[in-house]
Order: sequence, then structure tokens, then C-alpha cells
Amino acid sequence: MSKSLLKVNNIEVVYNHVILALRGVTLDVEEGSIVSLLGANGSGKTTTLKACSNLVHAERGAVTKGSIEYDGDDIAGNDPYNLVKGGVVQVLEGRHCFTNLTVEENIMTGSFIREDSKQAKQDLERVYDHFERIRIRKKSLAGFISGGEQQMVAMGRALMSRPKLILLDEPSMGLAPQLVEEIFSIVKNLNKEGVSFL
Ligand code: ATP
Repeated sequence: MSKSLLKVNNIEVVYNHVILALRGVTLDVEEGSIVSLLGANGSGKTTTLKACSNLVHAERGAVTKGSIEYDGDDIAGNDPYNLVKGGVVQVLEGRHCFTNLTVEENIMTGSFIREDSKQAKQDLERVYDHFERIRIRKKSLAGFISGGEQQMVAMGRALMSRPKLILLDEPSMGLAPQLVEEIFSIVKNLNKEGVSFL
């Protein structure tokens, strides 16, 4: 049986001290697995991911009940910087690329936690190996590339921190079917390399 990488146990999330966005959410991501969250608009998928990455904190949200364990440690309320260092990274819905930076500069921002610049360069090549489509656009400003390419940039940026778990929020939103297929096949390849997904 595989080991549990992320365990969300009966959590509640409240925004602004009063808005109850999540109640009683429990899920398990086993090491090496891809777990999908399905639900209607506003049902709390993004909030669940942001509770795990602790980005809810930036929106005046908090996990008020339950627990979140990553690799056996309680991580609810941990600093997102340290979570990224520990291998948990979120790719936000809507990509959020820096439009005035080039594709490559955007990807390199994902290595901000790294101290080994030589290895970061090798990892950049790994990103381009997965996302050939953005290798040829590396000098373009991210604001001038397509939505699908921006999604690849956002995922490539996340890969630069060498994550064990990627919290991937609506990666196919607004993309053409061919690109959706391409992105999911890259997810599958990354999963084969040992990256887990929620
Ligand atoms: P979508 O599919 O539209 O992205 P979702 O399933 O990801 O939706 P969330 O965005 O997590 O759902 O929203 C869950 C609930 O929390 C909704 O009722 C939403 O209005 C509320 N909510 C989300 N973000 C905030 C916030 N920053 N402040 C207050 N309420 C919020």
C-alpha cells in the first residue's frame, strides 16, 4: 500500500472571521497519485487547495477546525515559503504570470527558494523538456503568449522548486481541447517521475 503524502482531516475554513467556506472536508493524497477534486462553482475546490498551501491566510482566511498533514507533519498554518521548501507548491487558477517578464524569467522566479544556481539551470532544461512549446517562446514576454502557453509557464515555474506535491487549480480553464490534452499528458509524465497532484 502507498504511503499517504497529504492528509486533510475534517477541515473547516473561514474567511474574514465570518464567512464559512468549507466544512467537513477530508481527503487523502497517496504518494505518487493524482487526486481530482470535483465540484460546482463556489463549492470550495480552490479554498481546499489554498488551505493546504496556506494561501488562504493572504485572503484573511483561516483553517479553524481539523488538521492538514503533509509527510506526517501537521502543516496547517505553516508559512507558504516553508511549504514550498518542503515540496508543496500551488499553481493558481488563472496562471498569474508576470506579463512584463519573459517566459524564461517567469520560470526562473520559481527557483527563488534555491541556493544552487547550477542545478537550477539544469532544472530549467527539465522544464523545457516537458514543455517544448515554451522552449521556443522563452524570450517572449509572458503577456504576449497564449493562455495554454501561460499555463505551461505557471506549471514550469512550480517545477523549479522541485515539488513532491503540486496543488493544481483548474489547469484546463479556457483552453482549447488540444492544449488541454497536451497539459494533461504532461501531468501524467510528471506523475511518472514521482510528482503527486491534487
Ligand atoms: P470555482 O469553481 O468558481 O473556482 P471553487 O469550488 O474553487 O469555485 P472557492 O473559490 O473555494 O470555490 O469558493 C468557496 C466559497 O468561498 C464561495 O462561497 C466563495 O464565495 C467563498 N470565498 C472564496 N474566496 C473568498 C474570499 N477571499 N473571501 C471571502 N469568501 C471567499
